[in-house]
Amino acid sequence: EHARLAALRDAESVTPDGRRVEIAGNIGTPAEVAQVLAQGGEGIGLFRSEFLYMNRDTAPTEEEQFAAYKEVAEAMQGRPVIVRTLDVGGDKSIPYLGLPREDNPFLGYRAIRVCLDQKELFAAQLRAILRASHYGKLRVMFPMIATVEEVRAAKRELEAAKQALRAEGVPFDEEMEVGIMIEIPAAAVMADRLAKEVDFFSIGTNDLVQYALACDRLNERISHLYQPLNPSVLRLVKMVIDGAHAAGKWVGMCGELAGDPRATAILLGLGLDEFSMSAGSILQVRDVVRNTRYEDAKALAARALEADTEADVLRLVQG
Ligand code: PEP
Ligand code: MG
Repeated sequence: EHARLAALRDAESVTPDGRRVEIAGNIGTPAEVAQVLAQGGEGIGLFRSEFLYMNRDTAPTEEEQFAAYKEVAEAMQGRPVIVRTLDVGGDKSIPYLGLPREDNPFLGYRAIRVCLDQKELFAAQLRAILRASHYGKLRVMFPMIATVEEVRAAKRELEAAKQALRAEGVPFDEEMEVGIMIEIPAAAVMADRLAKEVDFFSIGTNDLVQYALACDRLNERISHLYQPLNPSVLRLVKMVIDGAHAAGKWVGMCGELAGDPRATAILLGLGLDEFSMSAGSILQVRDVVRNTRYEDAKALAARALEADTEADVLRLVQG
């Protein structure tokens, strides 16, 4: 079985009836690129940039960040790399950012909310990402988007960073794609409008599930309610994919659900274009894709959307 999966390292991620998807890896540091490539990852669908900011007393400089993003861009040799801008707050605290103690940190001052409030911090990261885009195929992605205004504000900061680099004669990829994470139900519901603002979406199911079911992803006592395959979540995922496709944009998923082989056929059937996961899941998910007809996946997804419970969905896929 191990050898059979290993043989899929260089195989295409395509169904028997020709539906092609991208299977990419999630990383938290440049060192993890090697594992993604070793497992046959076709790109980096989520580069969490938090590691640059953790366990230190001051924010990383633009140069430090540039070096890290450039390293990943070069190591991936032209394959796409999605760099997610700083996603702190919630469970991840950073002393020097002056994050207050909050009663509801997951509903509080975090991620894009911090970056739109601390403009110099955001500008340094955007400049670093833009500069690194010259050395590979980088994409930038904003986390925890709740509203259309936030995307527009983030894009204004990106545009300002581009203007400054142009004035300085510093090269960057003028065509770099801009995306947002969909991990708040409001954003899922507004996907058709948000799609007009960006080049792509990536669905963050780790947060989307907790917000959809009002279930703290870290609270063990209610973990029975944390249901990534609940039909409510699948219906949100469908809204996101349909909204994006209607506007001609592509959709990935970088939450844990993307790497769960039990979910692969349903997500494929809903029309997901890119699956990004920990390196260890890549071959298993590719195996499912290569053995699932797209037409069958669509029928399965339609039945899952009509299920009453997560248990019913699981019975469908294990059926
Ligand atoms: C997510 O929410 O699904 C996600 C990928 O982001 P994180 O787990 O870093 O919050
Ligand atoms: Mg998240």
